[in-house]
Amino acid sequence: MGSLVYIRRSNDVIPEILGKVTEENDGEEIVAPTHCPSCGSELEMRGAHLFCLNRLGCSPQLVGRMSHFASRDAMDIEFFSEMTASQLHQELGVNDPADLYTLKFDDLVKLDRFGEKKANNLLGALEKSKSRDLASFLYALGIPNSGKTTTKVLADYYRSLPKIMAATPEELITLPDVGGIVAESIYSFFRDPVMVSSIERMLAAGVNPIAEEPAVVLASPDNPFFGKTVVLTGTLSTMGRDECAKKLEALGAKITGSVSKKTDIVIAGESAGSKLTKAQELGIRIIDDEQELLQLLGES
Ligand SMILES: [Zn+2]
Repeated sequence: MGSLVYIRRSNDVIPEILGKVTEENDGEEIVAPTHCPSCGSELEMRGAHLFCLNRLGCSPQLVGRMSHFASRDAMDIEFFSEMTASQLHQELGVNDPADLYTLKFDDLVKLDRFGEKKANNLLGALEKSKSRDLASFLYALGIPNSGKTTTKVLADYYRSLPKIMAATPEELITLPDVGGIVAESIYSFFRDPVMVSSIERMLAAGVNPIAEEPAVVLASPDNPFFGKTVVLTGTLSTMGRDECAKKLEALGAKITGSVSKKTDIVIAGESAGSKLTKAQELGIRIIDDEQELLQLLGES
C-alpha cells in the first residue's frame, strides 16, 4: 500500500487523483509528476498535494474557475455547465468569468450544440446573474478559504463591495467566523491585480451585486432558535442548507460556520463529519433528526 497522489489545479477545487505511490510493483504504481500534465508548468508540493501554480494559463483551472463562478450557490447561471465553460474556453477564448459578460449572440449561435434557443437562454441567464446578491457574488469569485458562510458574514457586515475590497486584515479578523488565515486570504485576494481587473470588468459590464436585506425577525422570542448560535453541517434531505439557514435566521438564530464553545445548536444532516464530532466532544445540543428539525421550525 502507498499513499495517493493528488494534483490540485486551483485553490478550492476538488483535487484530481492521479494514482497511488506504492513500493510494490503491481503495475498500478505511479511516479509523482514534476510538471502539470495540462500545461507543463512545474508543480509545487505542499503537504500531500501537488499544485500547479499557473492559474492564468492552465486550461482546467480556468474552466474550473468559470464553472464555480456559474454554479448554483454562486452566480446561479442556468444553462451553463462545466462542458459549456470548456467549450467557450476552447472555441471562443473565454478565460475569465468577466469574459462571459462580453459574449454575443452571433458568437454563441455558431458553436456546436448551441442553437438560437440555447444562445438566447444563456445570454438571458447571464443577464439575470448581474443582479445576484453580494454574498453569492463574493462566493462566486472563489476567494481562497472562504465558503458561503464567510461571504455572507462579509456581505451582511459591510453591505458594499468597495468596502469589502478595502477592508484590512485587522478589521476582518474581528468578524464572526473569520480567523487569521481567512482574513489574510480575503485581503490578499483583493490585492491581486488580476482579480481586481476581472471584478472591474464585471462591474463595467453591468454586474451589480447588492447586499440582501437582513432577515426580518418575525418570530417570537420563545421559539427554540431565538438568539441561538447555530451551525449547519451535512446534507439535509428536505431543504438546501441555504434555505434552512434563511429559515433559522428568520426565527432569530445566528448562523456560523465553525463549532466552538459559543455554539448553542448543531444541525447535522447526512454525512456530517468533523463538526458533528466536535459538537459531541463539547457537549453541544445536536439536532440530527430531520423530522424533529421540521417540527422545531414550525413546518410540520
Ligand atoms: Zn497546469
